[in-house]
Amino acid sequence: MLKVTDLSAGYGAINILWNLNFEIGDGEIVAFLGSNGAGKTTTVRAVTGLIRPSSGSVQFNGQELARKNSRAILDAGIVQVPEGRQLFTDMTVLENLEMGAFNKPTREAFKENLKTVYKWFPKLEERANQSAGTLSGGEQQMVAVARALIGIPKLLILDEPSLGLAPNIVDDILAVATSMAKNDGISVMLVEQDITKALACADRGYVIENGKIALEGTSASLSANEHVKKAYLGI
Ligand code: ATP
Repeated sequence: MLKVTDLSAGYGAINILWNLNFEIGDGEIVAFLGSNGAGKTTTVRAVTGLIRPSSGSVQFNGQELARKNSRAILDAGIVQVPEGRQLFTDMTVLENLEMGAFNKPTREAFKENLKTVYKWFPKLEERANQSAGTLSGGEQQMVAVARALIGIPKLLILDEPSLGLAPNIVDDILAVATSMAKNDGISVMLVEQDITKALACADRGYVIENGKIALEGTSASLSANEHVKKAYLGI
């Protein structure tokens, strides 16, 4: 479904990514691992249209997205949960979810999609009429993820969900991502510093080093790889 070929990208005259090739299949969770500054977030930005690749192709369900803007990429079904919660704290949970319906098809499907999102986050249904500002930090994070999902994307991008979150909330979010992938066929691109957690949840992974794919394989094979163990797992 997502097929990236020979992708190069960077910032201005500085090239960061060098001829990346990777794929994410339907309902697959794929982890992107690497140390600080390796190019993981830049890869995400190139996929979501925040930066324009200097060369290469980003095919999504047969559609070329490499030169499209963020809005067109969102309309194609690729969604990223924004950093920080960015909730409307005076509004209720339900009203916040309504704000996530960003285009006509999503607004039309809102009632139906809401049922799906409540299935993923049952607690939010209980809290539908509570103002978002009065929720716990973890619950607010759930609302932010749920709002990103209200259009029922085809590909969900999670960039460092563990950053600034309590470990149990991260586990909850990864559990929802796993259920969405396995039961609803939604694909997940998971960028995560906690490599043990990422590989436990992902089907496959890519290791990015200096803007290049250094290694790829199933989560089991990456976990057993000597280089991964030494460089990233500290064992
Ligand atoms: P981290 O895990 O620390 O977030 P990362 O693998 O996500 O790292 P990137 O954020 O993709 O790494 O950064 C890759 C390189 O691109 C780094 O050298 C960084 O300094 C550079 N970079 C990132 N954003 C910009 C920018 N807006 N302008 C110029 N260079 C940037």
